[in-house]
Amino acid sequence: MRITFLGTGTSHGIPMIACDCGVCRSADQRNRRLRTSVLIETGERNILIDTPPDFREQMLRRSVRRLDAILYTHHHADHIFGLDDVRRFNEIQCGAIPCYAAKESLAVLKNIFSYAFNPPQLGGGVPQIVLKEIAGDRIDVLGVQVEAIEVRHGKIPVTGFRIGGFAYITDCSAIPDASMRRLRNLKVLVLGVLRHERHSTHFSVGEGVAVAQELGAERTFFTHMCHRLEHEETERNLPGNVRLAFDGMVLEL
Ligand SMILES: [Zn+2]
Ligand SMILES: [Zn+2]
Ligand SMILES: [Zn+2]
Repeated sequence: MRITFLGTGTSHGIPMIACDCGVCRSADQRNRRLRTSVLIETGERNILIDTPPDFREQMLRRSVRRLDAILYTHHHADHIFGLDDVRRFNEIQCGAIPCYAAKESLAVLKNIFSYAFNPPQLGGGVPQIVLKEIAGDRIDVLGVQVEAIEVRHGKIPVTGFRIGGFAYITDCSAIPDASMRRLRNLKVLVLGVLRHERHSTHFSVGEGVAVAQELGAERTFFTHMCHRLEHEETERNLPGNVRLAFDGMVLEL
């Protein structure tokens, strides 16, 4: 299984528009972060988690030629607004793409992308997607066994995903005990962490480290970071098995 980080930034992306801070002006490419998404290649299937506004650029940068399925963590703008650009994959693959999301997120997708379900006219080019509800703890994604693990993002639920020894949890401020138990014995944990200071809907670096240590994954990578986290300086103060992900980072599992 190969994991490619397509984006590791919070909703604004880094650099932020009109910001002159050291991270936004950094020459270190690891400080340039598109909105958060990962591509999982199992050998048989290419599965994408979330379609951020940077989806098109991410597909171009990584020369992605095929998308078999999309998993949605939740329905915030920075995780869904690139969906329209799956049209190109519909064209190449001559078919619709299954999109898996929790019930609440499916309702938002149907509403925001209503034109995809009730096209105003034919030939206008709308994304062809088949919405699939994540109802239980396990999903069969075209033969790939994926566990759906609910976490909290402030007041809203977010779906985390686990495939074998890999788990991916983005926007998160608390993980219920039952979900913590389902995140044991991981080789790689990806966890959303926003900044050093505490935040009402995201883990801080300190909280993320505490979760990483409690779960004891072999390696933990932080994602969904804001411009307050300079890559090298932040990593210097982390335990050795906790690192910051960066755009373009590839993990082989
Ligand atoms: Zn987000
Ligand atoms: Zn900045
Ligand atoms: Zn969010």
